[in-house]
Amino acid sequence: MSGPSGDRMIRVDMTSQTAAVVPFPEAWKLLGGRALSARILLEECDASCDPLGPGNVLVMAPGVLSGTAAPTSGRISMGGKSPLTGGIKEANAGGNPGQDLMKLGYRCIVVKGQPSDSGRRYALDVTADGARVVEADAYKGMWNYALIEELAKSYSRTASFISIGPAGEMRLKGASIACTDQEKERHPARHAARGGLGAVMGSKGIKYVAVDAGRSPVRQPADRKAFTALSKGYSKDFREGPKAGMFKHGTSAVVPVANMLNTFPYKNRVEGQSPDAKTLDGARIVESFAERGGGMHNCMTGCIVQCSNVVHDADGNYKTSALEFETLTLLGANCAIASWEDVADLDRLCDEVGLDTIETGAALAIYMDSGGLEWGDAEGAKRLLAEIAEGTELGRALGDGAVSIGRKRNHRRVPAVKGQAIPAWDPRPLKATGLTYLTSPMGADHTAGLIVNPGMPQEQWVRASQEAQLVNAVCDSSGFCQFLQPNLDDIRDFYGALYGEAVSREQIADVGWQCLEDEWEFNRRAGWQPQDDVMPACMAEDPVGPENARVRWDVPKGIEQGVYQRLETREELFTMKATG
Ligand code: SF4
Repeated sequence: MSGPSGDRMIRVDMTSQTAAVVPFPEAWKLLGGRALSARILLEECDASCDPLGPGNVLVMAPGVLSGTAAPTSGRISMGGKSPLTGGIKEANAGGNPGQDLMKLGYRCIVVKGQPSDSGRRYALDVTADGARVVEADAYKGMWNYALIEELAKSYSRTASFISIGPAGEMRLKGASIACTDQEKERHPARHAARGGLGAVMGSKGIKYVAVDAGRSPVRQPADRKAFTALSKGYSKDFREGPKAGMFKHGTSAVVPVANMLNTFPYKNRVEGQSPDAKTLDGARIVESFAERGGGMHNCMTGCIVQCSNVVHDADGNYKTSALEFETLTLLGANCAIASWEDVADLDRLCDEVGLDTIETGAALAIYMDSGGLEWGDAEGAKRLLAEIAEGTELGRALGDGAVSIGRKRNHRRVPAVKGQAIPAWDPRPLKATGLTYLTSPMGADHTAGLIVNPGMPQEQWVRASQEAQLVNAVCDSSGFCQFLQPNLDDIRDFYGALYGEAVSREQIADVGWQCLEDEWEFNRRAGWQPQDDVMPACMAEDPVGPENARVRWDVPKGIEQGVYQRLETREELFTMKATG
């Protein structure tokens, strides 16, 4: 198969603090992002390793289409063994580092080893000339925004950055990896958030990665004419079709719908609806744009969806971006915090310290539920985030996530699967999504395969979960953002034009299934067993919904095992949209 030639990858050894650029294997051409990360981890990482030890492997892999002119295709996957779940993890982010790495022809960065002195900090500089590890002790402990402001003084305007905050440096299990967005200020606002991969980056001693693509052009496809026509046609259809309106006001616009469906968890998920849905509704954020400024923007170059809101404070100054549905739910409703502005403050703090807002919101709610803090105490929550940044004993327990603080508080209600907090979308009304949480290699992660269909009959759950997981695995390997909602036929068309040869339906479906198989196999080697596929007891004991229609997790044990057996492929698989 022909296509972009001369692809390379960067291999970094943090034990010796050296980096080398090597050819990218031809056999991996159709693998990018999540699927590439899974293959490298399966082949090169001992699944039984300590996730924070030298044996873990950190992979940073843009999608197959990143760096090209395909719309909304520049996402980057971070992969490694998760300190939170103990299994494989992929978390992806927007921003520009994925685009920039691929413009330079670097298909991935693979980081191994660990410095002998855990007190030292390093950085990786990536340019067209190669990659080198440099000292970065001067940036130790810096919060993400201050770090990027400082780096902007010494790096070119064309550089983008991948970084961690103090949470990653302290190796906290809820730590995220930040990517800078495409704005000229380069806000570190796009996070590969889930699974604690920021702690893995911290354990490697890497504070940041700078990628300077200079004036490198976009990646040239083998069949330029076909690729350009495809990109233009796809963008036109998107802008003129029904998908254009879906994320016009960002994911936060979903709040009223989620509340109606009893999947807007309140007070550590004792209820599925919040009395504060109106004040947490994304419409309030949109209303603020007129007076304060801010608005909707694209987080990375080439995104046509522009789902990301930029939130300003009452004085018209930038506060945070993007304030998402999941964040409004976990840090807002789930903690009974009623004001979207307080949630915006908490979101900014999480981005600064480098924390997953879902895991952190779930941990705060458990702390409140166990009597540590009054429900709705937003100022108290902000103080606790400062404690996480300081690394106090309580701060570390919270920064290590929901299970950690639940254990410390000896609390019964800990809504987590495989060590990772359940996101907003609730498995009690959304059973097929619940099967995804049980069987996904990622633990409880809605981006692995979300199905928002509360009335779905039981006989459809297994297929729905398996197909959603497969489609999302391909999407997360392509570089496309899930909010573009591409389907498998779209993706194979782009791959075909990129490489100048048709990609069959069978091939593209196999990419997705093989990705899942690689990840499940890694987890089996890490010790995961069928008996681990369980929903926490509180999901079965505490129902949500109106009095006459309370729903709980009452799915018979064993059904979920069907997701692991590949079902016969049906036509509909190829036109299903990726969902997140
Ligand atoms: S759709 Fe939203 S999250 Fe996705 S790349 Fe565009 S702005 Fe970023």
